[in-house]
Amino acid sequence: MIDATHDPGRTSWVETANGHTNFPIQNLPIGIFSPPGGSARGGVAIGDQILDITAALEAELFKGAVRDSAEAASGTTLNKLLAASPLARQALRQRLSDVLSDPVFRPLGPRLLHDAVACMMHLPAQVGDFSDFFAGIHHATTGGMINRPDNPLSPNYKYMPVAYHSRASTVRPSGMVVRRPNGQRKPPGQVEPDFGPCRNLDYEMELGVWIGQGNEIGNPIPIADAGRHVVGLCLLNDWSARDIQAWESLPLGPFLSKSLSTSVSPWIVTAEALEPFRIPQPPRPISDPAPLPHLLDPMDQAMGCFDIEFQVLLLTPAMQAAHQAPHRMSVSNASMLYWTVAQMVAHHTSNGCNLLPGDLFGSGTISGTEPGTEGCLLEMTRGGQKSISLPNGETRTYLQDGDEVIFTASCRKPNHVTIGFGECRGVVTPALPI
Ligand code: MN
Repeated sequence: MIDATHDPGRTSWVETANGHTNFPIQNLPIGIFSPPGGSARGGVAIGDQILDITAALEAELFKGAVRDSAEAASGTTLNKLLAASPLARQALRQRLSDVLSDPVFRPLGPRLLHDAVACMMHLPAQVGDFSDFFAGIHHATTGGMINRPDNPLSPNYKYMPVAYHSRASTVRPSGMVVRRPNGQRKPPGQVEPDFGPCRNLDYEMELGVWIGQGNEIGNPIPIADAGRHVVGLCLLNDWSARDIQAWESLPLGPFLSKSLSTSVSPWIVTAEALEPFRIPQPPRPISDPAPLPHLLDPMDQAMGCFDIEFQVLLLTPAMQAAHQAPHRMSVSNASMLYWTVAQMVAHHTSNGCNLLPGDLFGSGTISGTEPGTEGCLLEMTRGGQKSISLPNGETRTYLQDGDEVIFTASCRKPNHVTIGFGECRGVVTPALPI
């Protein structure tokens, strides 16, 4: 529902929020941060500041049910808030929007706010399970083409949002270093596998989905109810060791090539904030099968897609030493996904599997069809065959030690205030000696 919190005319007494490309008052994403010298706690990004929910509770800014929501958001993880009803979350958003827009609260600023740059961000929730989908059809097609040129998509692809269970313990917030993994590799032409540092380290630009209220085991979530179980979205880098992946994945799918690390942007951009940026799911080509009934909902088809534009940036050590800006590798959009988030939720639970508050989904790599829209290096370099030239004369096929990968994203629409996701960053560090 669109309400006063989305009003483009609404401004904040936190001056840096007005015109802020990521965190204007219309966004109000939630996360967990530590202020300088302080412990981890819930907060809300507003301009270049973070509103401390615990401090706002102490200032008695909340009453009744909204107070319960604020308390659920004041711990060291947001799992309790994620377990609350969508209405409880919306009420908190409403109140925070009122507090941050009404100048009567301006004198409380020093008590409530911290400079974001001085704070440390953590994961917003303890992740129970992390499932990674494969819903970017152009990624699936281009990737499949490298190994199976005649039949790039697997036969199930257009019938279900294909996924695998990945690793929750290695999901980490933006800014953590990513160690190049050691693993088994067997390049084409080599008779026996060997063990050593990954040679083909890649990023995957994905949408992260934070699950709120779960379901009882044995009780699937109908697709029409799926939206109630999604708290919000983030950016997700599914770091991928392509050489290790190629050797280990048959027949059970990726394992150590994916569990090395997954980076997420630390702010949950809520479903409420994203409401104005919902668009129809692009129609399937006429020759494609319709989704089976349990994955088809008219409302979901009418507004289950998100108009989110992503950018992938690369900063090499040489660029950094020369004080050059990161190079934009690609631009893509969430509308490239073949399956909606609701279809992912419905499929995931269709066998009775239960989801829990704090579960995380990855969408799969989001790529378009044009050059400059690829969501990973595997696609950009055709499996490492074609190197990429950077503006400073360097080249890359896969990531080198010291390279920093940065994802950003934003939602724009006429007559609406632009909101963004902040950043998802990670620097590659050398592998441990064998
Ligand atoms: Mn992936």
